[in-house]
Amino acid sequence: MKILEDQALQPLNTFALPARGRYFCRAESVDDLREALAFSEAENLPILLLGGGSNVVLSRDFPGLVVHMALKGIERLEETADHCLLRAKAGEEWHAFVEHCLQGACFGLENLSLIPGTVGAAPIQNIGAYGVELRDRLESVEALDRATGETVRFANRECGFSYRTSVFKGRFRDRYIITAVTLRLDKRPAPVTTYGSVERELRAMGETDITPVRVSRAICNLRRRKLPDPAVLANVGSFFKNPLVSSEVFGRLKSRYEDLIGYPGPDHRVRLSAGWMIDRTGWKGCRRGPVGVHAGHALVLVNYGGASAGEILRLAREIRDSVREAFDVELEIEPRIY
Ligand SMILES: Cc1cc2nc3c(=O)[nH]c(=O)nc-3n(C[C@H](O)[C@H](O)[C@H](O)COP(=O)(O)OP(=O)(O)OC[C@H]3O[C@@H](n4cnc5c(N)ncnc54)[C@H](O)[C@@H]3O)c2cc1C
Repeated sequence: MKILEDQALQPLNTFALPARGRYFCRAESVDDLREALAFSEAENLPILLLGGGSNVVLSRDFPGLVVHMALKGIERLEETADHCLLRAKAGEEWHAFVEHCLQGACFGLENLSLIPGTVGAAPIQNIGAYGVELRDRLESVEALDRATGETVRFANRECGFSYRTSVFKGRFRDRYIITAVTLRLDKRPAPVTTYGSVERELRAMGETDITPVRVSRAICNLRRRKLPDPAVLANVGSFFKNPLVSSEVFGRLKSRYEDLIGYPGPDHRVRLSAGWMIDRTGWKGCRRGPVGVHAGHALVLVNYGGASAGEILRLAREIRDSVREAFDVELEIEPRIY
C-alpha cells in the first residue's frame, strides 16, 4: 500500500472543505489497515478514517495519516425462506449496497436508500431515515482494535445503538476501525410506508401494489426533491440532531407554539424537530457569504463554494444561539468535527 504525502482532502469530503492530510493511504484490506496502524505508531501520528466524507467537518489540515476506507466485497452468508444474512465490507458505497440487496430480493433497507457514505460508517451514527434505523437490520459489526491490532465482532446489542449514535461514537470513539457489517434482511417484503410523506409519494407515483423496490424509488424521489445533492451543492446532510426533551418541556413549548413538531422518544420523552425550530427562528434559506441554510431543508447547512470550516461553524453557532434564546433548547451538531 502506498503512503502519500500532503494530499488534498477537498474531493473526499462532501462539504468540499479545503483541508489537506499530511499523509494519506487507501486501505483495500485488513492487512492494509494493519500497515497503516503500524505506520502511525512508528511515526507517532494520529489517524483520521474517511469513508465518503459525508458526515465530517474538516476544520484544519490533518497533521497525521488519513486512511481512506476502500475495502470492497459483498457476500451472502446464509439464506432461508424467511431471511438472509449479507456481509458487506466497510468501503462499499451504502446506496449501491441497498440496491444490491433489493436486486437480490433481500428486503428491509429500502427506507435507507440514497443515504450517502459507506457501509463501514453506517453503524457509527446508526444511520436512519423514514422510520427505519440501521439497528433494526444489523446483525453484527466486525472491527479492528486500533490498540491491539486484533479483529473483534460486536453483536447488535453490543453496539449501544440509539438515535444517531452508537458505542463507536461514544465510549469506543476512535478505538475501532469497522471492517465489515452483516445485515439480517427479510425474504418476505414488509415495506414500512407510514413515516412522513412516503405513502403520499407512492400514491403520486400511481403505485397501488407496494413493493420494497417501489418504496425505495419513492424515498429516492422524496430525498432528491428535499435535500441538496452534495455533488452540486456541498453539504453534510442534517447539521444538527433533533433534541430530546422531557414531556413537561414539550408541553410548555407546545402551549406557546401550537405548530411545534415533536416525535415520541425513549422514556416518555419527546424528540423536537430541530428543523422546525431553525425555520421558526428565521434561518431557513438565509445566506452568509459562501455559507447558508438550505432553502428547502432548515437542518442542512450548505457551502456555495469556497467556504471555510470557520464560516460554517460560525453560522452553526449563531443558529444554536438563536434556538437557545427562543426555545431554551440546546442543539447538538451531528457531523464529527476534526
Ligand atoms: C445529502 C446527505 C444526506 C444525508 N442523509 C442522512 C440520513 O438520512 N440519515 C443519516 O443517518 N445520515 C445522513 N447523512 C449523513 C451521512 O451520510 C451518514 O452519516 C453516513 O453514514 C456517513 O458515511 P461516510 O462514509 O461518508 O462517513 P465519513 O463522513 O467518512 O465518516 C464519518 C465518521 O465515521 C468515521 N468512520 C468512517 N468509516 C469508518 C470505519 N470504517 N470505521 C470506523 N470509523 C469510521 C470517520 O472517522 C468519521 O468520524 C446524510 C449526508 C448527506 C451529505
